[in-house]
Amino acid sequence: MREIKNFINGEFVSSGKLDDVVDPTTGKVVAQYSVASDQDVADAVSAADDALNGSWGKMDIQERVNILYKVADGINARFDEFLEAECLDTGKPYSLARHIDIPRGAANFKIFADTIKNAADEAFHMPTPDGTGALNYTVRKPKGVIAVIGPWNLPLLLMTWKVGPALACGNTVVVKPSEDTNLTTSLLGEVMNDAGVPAGVFNVVLGPGAQVGNALITNPSVDAITFTGSTETGHRIAGAAAIGVRDCSLELGGKNPGIVFADCDMDKAIEGTMRSVFANCGQVCLGTERMYVERSIFDEFVQKLKEGAEALKLGDPKDPTTNMGPLISANHKEKVLSFYKKAVDEGATVVTGGGIPDMPGEMNGGSWVQPTIWTGLSEDSTVVTEEIFGPCCHITAFDDEEEVIRMANDTPYGLASAVWTDNVSRAHRVAAQMESGICWVNSWFLRDLRTPFGGAKQSGVGREGGHYSLEFYTELSNICIKL
Ligand code: NAD
Repeated sequence: MREIKNFINGEFVSSGKLDDVVDPTTGKVVAQYSVASDQDVADAVSAADDALNGSWGKMDIQERVNILYKVADGINARFDEFLEAECLDTGKPYSLARHIDIPRGAANFKIFADTIKNAADEAFHMPTPDGTGALNYTVRKPKGVIAVIGPWNLPLLLMTWKVGPALACGNTVVVKPSEDTNLTTSLLGEVMNDAGVPAGVFNVVLGPGAQVGNALITNPSVDAITFTGSTETGHRIAGAAAIGVRDCSLELGGKNPGIVFADCDMDKAIEGTMRSVFANCGQVCLGTERMYVERSIFDEFVQKLKEGAEALKLGDPKDPTTNMGPLISANHKEKVLSFYKKAVDEGATVVTGGGIPDMPGEMNGGSWVQPTIWTGLSEDSTVVTEEIFGPCCHITAFDDEEEVIRMANDTPYGLASAVWTDNVSRAHRVAAQMESGICWVNSWFLRDLRTPFGGAKQSGVGREGGHYSLEFYTELSNICIKL
C-alpha cells in the first residue's frame, strides 16, 4: 500500500510507524502515512533552522520571488494530481476543489511573492537639536522558523495561505497538516524540490496533534506559530507560544450568523445561503450555522432553503453533478449526528434531514449525513450556540434590526457574518455593527487576498492577508541614522 511520508530537509522520510489514510467517501483505507517521531520533528525544526541561516533568509528578493512563482507553476502543472489527492483525502466534490482549493493553493505563492516584492519600507526624517536631523527607516527581516499547523477542511488552501507568505518573507517552515489530510501537503514537498526551494526551507511532519503537533509547538527553536483549527486547540497553541514569548497567529472556530432582511433579493439570498450552509458539507469555518430571517419572509425563506437542501445531490466526488460529499471522518460524523440528536431532544422542528442518507454500494461505508435545517429552538439551545461544522443550520425569525444585531452578536465567536438586504444604508449600518472579522453583504466567501482576514473574540488573534501577513511573518527593525 502507498506510504505518505514526512518531508524533512528536502527528503521524504519514513518513521517506520504507520497509520491509515481513510477515504471518507467509502470508509476504506486507501494508503498509509508515516507518523513522525519526536526525533523527526526535532530534525525538521533543525533543518529549518539551518536553512534559515543558509541561503533562503538572505537570498535576493527577486530570486526568492522567482522560486515561489515556480512553486505556483509546479502546483498548476500537477493540478490533476493535487485535485485527486485533495478529494481522496477529504471526500469533497472535484467540482469544488477544482475551482477553489487547488487554484488558491497555487495563487497563495504568487500573491504573497508579489506582496513582499512590492512592500515599501517606511522612512521618517526627524529634527535634532543641532539642526542636522536624523533619518529613521525600517527594515523587514524574516521572523525565523515558523510552525504551521492546519485543519482538515481546506488542507491545501489553508496551509499555503500560511506557507506562501512565510516563505516569501524569507522564513523557513515546518508544517503539520491535520492527521486526517496529509496527501497534498506531502505532495507539495515534491513541487518544492522541483522548483529549486533549498533543502530544509519547507518541511512536513505528519501525525496526531497531541503528539506531533505538541512536539512541534514546544520545540524552542520554533520562532513563531501560525495555526488554523478549533478554538480549543487554539488555547493550547497560545499557551505554548507564551513560553519563550513567541508570536502566534490563531484562526479559530466560529458560529457565524446570516441575516436576511425582507428587502433582500430572495433568490440571491437563497443561493448564497445554500453555499454558506452546505458547501464542503458544512465544513467551512466561515459558513453560517445560524440564520436570522425577517418574520414577513420567514416561511417563504424556510420553504425555499428546504427545497434547495433536498435538491442537493450527494454522491461520488468525481461525478461533476455531485453537490455534496461526506464529512471528513467517522468520528466527525458521530459528532455531527450527536448534534442532530441534541437538536431534536431540545425540541427543534426538523425542516429537512436530521439523519444518515442511503448511499449506494461502497459509499454506504462513508461518513455521510443529510443536509439538515431546524427551526423553533431558543437562542440558548445547543445547536444555536455551539459550532457543529456540518451541513446544517437553525433558522430564527426576527422582527427588527436592533433585535437581530443583538442576537447575531450574542456569541463568544466572531469570525464571519453575512447580511442580505437591498437597502444600502441598512447594509452599511448593520455590517459596521457585526462583531466579526469579516462581514459579507449580499455575498458569501468572496475573498480578496490583499484584505485582512482573521477572527474577533474567540475566533482568533491577529490578521493575515496582503501586507497584514507581512506584519506577522517579518520582524521589523528601526534604523536611525544621524545626518
Ligand atoms: P483541530 O483544532 O482539532 O486541529 C487542527 C490542527 O491542530 C490539526 O493539525 C491537529 O492535529 C492539531 N492539533 C490538535 N491538538 C494539538 C495540540 N495539542 N498541539 C498541537 N497541535 C494540535 O481542528 P480541526 O478539527 O482540524 O478543524 C476544524 C476547526 O478548525 C473548526 O473549529 C473550524 O472552525 C476551524 N477552522 C478555522 C478557520 C479560520 O480561518 N478561522 C479555518 C478552517 C477551520
